[in-house]
Amino acid sequence: MTYVHDTISSLQLSSPAQSEFYQAVEDVLSSLSPILESNNFYKKQAIIERIVEPERQIMFRVPWVDDNGNIQVNKGYRVEFNSALGPYKGGLRFHPSVNASIIKFLGFEQIFKNALTGLPIGGGKGGSNFNPKGKSDGEIMRFCQSFMNELYRHIGPVTDVPAGDIGVGAREIGYLFGQYKRLTGRYEGVFTGKSLLWGGSLVRKEATGYGTVYFAQYMLDDRGDSLQGKKCLVSGAGNVAIYAIEKLYQLGAIPVTCSDSTGTIYHPKGIDLKLLKRLKEVQRTGLIEYLETYPEATFTPVADYPKDGHAVWRYSADAAFPCATQNELTENDAEKLIENGCKLVSEGANMPSTSGAINLFISAGIAYGPAKAANAGGVATSQLEMAQNSSMQKWSFQTVDDHLKQIMKNIFISANEASHEFGQAGNLVLGANIAGFKRVADAMIEQGVV
Ligand code: GLU
Repeated sequence: MTYVHDTISSLQLSSPAQSEFYQAVEDVLSSLSPILESNNFYKKQAIIERIVEPERQIMFRVPWVDDNGNIQVNKGYRVEFNSALGPYKGGLRFHPSVNASIIKFLGFEQIFKNALTGLPIGGGKGGSNFNPKGKSDGEIMRFCQSFMNELYRHIGPVTDVPAGDIGVGAREIGYLFGQYKRLTGRYEGVFTGKSLLWGGSLVRKEATGYGTVYFAQYMLDDRGDSLQGKKCLVSGAGNVAIYAIEKLYQLGAIPVTCSDSTGTIYHPKGIDLKLLKRLKEVQRTGLIEYLETYPEATFTPVADYPKDGHAVWRYSADAAFPCATQNELTENDAEKLIENGCKLVSEGANMPSTSGAINLFISAGIAYGPAKAANAGGVATSQLEMAQNSSMQKWSFQTVDDHLKQIMKNIFISANEASHEFGQAGNLVLGANIAGFKRVADAMIEQGVV
C-alpha cells in the first residue's frame, strides 16, 4: 500500500504538524486497496491527491471584549473540504484544543460520513480555539457575533451550511444566526441545529445519540442479538452521550457510565438520565454533583485515570459507546474492553478510537461501528432540517425519527454490503470507507478536474 505511505509523506511536507488529520487520512486510505490496486481508473484521475486537499480553507482573527473590558483574540476556521455531493455541511467546534489539524480531520471525516448518508451534502468543518467554559452569556454572544462578522461572507443555504459540534449548541447557533441575518438581511436555512422556535427540526438535538444506538441495534440484529438487557458504557455528557443514554433505555439496555472533562461516573443501577440532563443542560455543572443525589455511585476524577487510557473503558460491560471526543479510547482501553467481554462498540464521537484500538476490535471480530457510519445520524437529520426549511414545512417528531432510523439502516446495509463485496465480511471500517469514498470519488470524476 505504497500510496498510503506516499500520501502521508507528502501531506507531512505540505501540511506539517497535523497528526489528527494524517490519522483520519490513513484510516480511509488503508481501506481502499481493494478498489485502488485492482484498477488504474482512480489513479489516472489523481483522485487521492485531490480528495485529501480541501477545496478552500478560511482562517481568521476573532477579536472580542470580555466582561472585564479586556480584549481577547481567538482563531477562527472554516474548512470547505469537498462539494462534489452538495453544499459543504458540517459543524463548528468551540474548544481550546481546536487547531488546523483538528478541523481538517473533522472535515475529512465529514466528507465520507455525509456521502454514506446517501443525502446531497458535501463536507466541511469549522470552529475556534475559544473556550466557552466559564464564559458569561454576554461573552458567548459577543464572541459568536465577532466570529460571524467574518464567516457570513463564506456561507449560505446552497453553499455552506454549518451546525453545532463540541461547545456549539442551540444557544450559540442562535447568536451566530442572529448576526448572519443582521449582516445579510436574509432569513434563510444557513444553519442547522436551530431552536425549535425558529426553523429547527424536531429530533435534531437527539439525532446523533439516537442514531448511534440505532446503528448498534442494526449491527446486533445482523448477528441475531439485541440491546435488550445489555450493560453499556457511555463516555461523554454532552448532546451525543445524553441522547444515546436516552435511546439505550428506550431499547431496554442499561447505560451505567458517563463522563466529562472532570471525571467519570459509574452507577451500576443505571445512570439517572433526568438528573444528568439537569446537571448538563440546565445547571451546566461538573459530574461530581451527581454524587449529591447518588452517594453510592463512583466518581473517578481525571487525575486518577489509568496512564494509558480512560477510566470509563475499564468497567466490564456488553457494549461501549464512545460519545466524547477524538482518541478517547486507546489500544489499552480496547484490550481491557475485549478482555471484560465487550461485544459491541458504536461510536458517537468523531474518531474516538485510536488506530491501535480499531485494529484490536476488527481482529477480535466484535461488532464495531466506526464513527463515520455510526454517528452520521446527526448530520443526516441536519439535512432533513435543510429540506424542511427550503420547503417551508415542519415535520412531526415521528416523521423525522422514521427517516433517521431508515437512514441509519441504509448506512449499515451499504457498509456491510461493501465489506462482503470486498472480501472482509463484517469489517464495517473497510465497508464504510469504501462505500463513502466511491460515492464521492465517482461524483468528483463526473464533474471533471475541478
Ligand atoms: N457536528 C456533527 C458531526 O460531526 C453534525 C454536523 C452537522 O449537522 O452539520 O457530524
